[in-house]
Amino acid sequence: MIATLVRSIAAAGVVLWLAAGGALAQGQFSALARADGAASRLWAEDGGLALDLALSHPVPWRVRFLNAPPRLIVDFREVDFRALDGARLMGAVRGKVTDLRAGPVREGWSRLVLALDRPQLVSEAEMRTALRGGDGALLRLRLRPADPAAFAAEVARPDPPGWALPKPAMTPAPRKPRGQGPLVVVLDPGHGGLDPGAEHDGQSEARLMLTFARELKEALVRAGIARVVMTREDDSFVPLETRVAIAHQAGADVFLSLHADAVPEGVATGATVYTLAEAASDAASAALAERHDRDALMAGVDLTGQDDLIAGVLMDMARRETAPRTEKLADALVAAMAAARLPLHKVPRRGAAFSVLKAPDIPSVLVELGYISSPRDLARLSDPAWRATMAGAIVAGLSSWSVEDAAAAGLLRQ
Ligand SMILES: [Zn+2]
Repeated sequence: MIATLVRSIAAAGVVLWLAAGGALAQGQFSALARADGAASRLWAEDGGLALDLALSHPVPWRVRFLNAPPRLIVDFREVDFRALDGARLMGAVRGKVTDLRAGPVREGWSRLVLALDRPQLVSEAEMRTALRGGDGALLRLRLRPADPAAFAAEVARPDPPGWALPKPAMTPAPRKPRGQGPLVVVLDPGHGGLDPGAEHDGQSEARLMLTFARELKEALVRAGIARVVMTREDDSFVPLETRVAIAHQAGADVFLSLHADAVPEGVATGATVYTLAEAASDAASAALAERHDRDALMAGVDLTGQDDLIAGVLMDMARRETAPRTEKLADALVAAMAAARLPLHKVPRRGAAFSVLKAPDIPSVLVELGYISSPRDLARLSDPAWRATMAGAIVAGLSSWSVEDAAAAGLLRQ
């Protein structure tokens, strides 16, 4: 019954999309609707939840659910959520909604995600249009608690055609012998889109890392030591699994994930280079890796089955061969940063279970350039001259590592 209702909602969304497309052709509507923060409300009702989301005009939308934790996902084509105050909305449903995120999920698509304290399903869903004779629209969603079996069945229902996010193609590029051909470096600016990462003083980790990755790409290309592929070129959300898949497709020799996170204590400063470790070096590193998986979940990603990517004896063997090369890469980066007199964290080489570092056959490291929560680090990250020094150090570190790595393989890089 509920499944049927949701299916008809999805169908309505598609119909609306076609209608909006027609209107667009006549130039009557802008494609991007704005969320009206002041007119939107979230509250508890009849043991469930009620959401009224006010929009500047109607857009195509659909509802779906994910589990572990139970999440409501509402996708739109498309909504500017900047005027929506998530903390204010959640204030009235404390404990029932444990997290709320809204923002761009990829080009032309926006997403609202609510983490729920228990399984709930849609009892009513509609978009009211032409409100008060104007262009305004109101998305009304009513949720009621559901038993786990009904919820699991709804989660398992496939996306309607045209609404599924593209799955990463897992066909790796043919691998060239180690040390031959140009070094292929995949740069991974952390976070993006719906997931801004750490935020401080109006700056977001996602934006700062995109800026830095572009500059580092320039520096690597100018130095003539690498061909560079980026996991994202703009402010869009890229699932962790897709980031690893991009590295495989590119035939990456090196994967560098770039971050500048916040720590709750606000005392940590300086750069840290992380490698993959099942047991984290310390509690702060474990918390950091967990938070990155949580950010991915809250962007509406289903992490169940993701470890299939990295399972199996062959993977273990590949990792055993890769791990010492990865450790040397991390050491080379830290040494180059120290040589450039860049500020390092007091323990600059650490390990944690970052999902994005799980490619078994590609030396992968995660660089925390500094902490956005430290005013001094944030000032450095915002300074183009400081970023140029950091980019130069990473180029130097990669360069010395690749020469050593090729020599270790008994080959010369051409
Ligand atoms: Zn991060």
